[in-house]
Amino acid sequence: MIQVQVGDITRLEVDAIVNAANSSLLGGGGVDGAIHRAAGPELLAYCRGLGGCETGDAKITPGFRLPARYVIHTVGPVWRGGDAGEPDLLASCYRRSLELAVENAAVSIAFPCISTGVYGYPKSAAAEIAVATVRDFARLDAIEQVVLCCFDEPAAILHRRALEDNQ
Ligand code: ADP
Repeated sequence: MIQVQVGDITRLEVDAIVNAANSSLLGGGGVDGAIHRAAGPELLAYCRGLGGCETGDAKITPGFRLPARYVIHTVGPVWRGGDAGEPDLLASCYRRSLELAVENAAVSIAFPCISTGVYGYPKSAAAEIAVATVRDFARLDAIEQVVLCCFDEPAAILHRRALEDNQ
């Protein structure tokens, strides 16, 4: 039910893909840029009406031209050394995204490796939090498939290891 896949999240045929957005929700680089390019300009227009998003929180939009029905935009913490609440905020991103999926009857959801790009979160620690938070999610019974979508094989290795260590 929790799977690790390597590839481009914008191609996945799941009910919802998660975007590692910034707090403006007005687009950026990395996975955010890729999602906006694939979804089309309607996504940015819709996001303008949302008034941004706090770090650790999430907001849902349609997927527009994406295969996914929804995009769940979450704002990961910028890594500041680990003593600024980063682990709790990162866990909150996964939890809030899953909550929005359940509220919207999305039964399959794919996550990118939130905060591990420009935001600088150490990749191994982030993988542990991703796996543990998904596993501990209270309403996991309402979700059929969680894809941890890694952009490269080294990230996938870390997530597979976290899944094995966390059983
Ligand atoms: P953040 O600002 O939260 O760090 P980034 O977009 O810079 O977000 O990076 C988050 C992760 O998304 C990184 O691990 C990066 O390799 C990955 N990534 C970038 N583009 C894609 C994509 N098209 N599909 C899946 N993952 C992607």
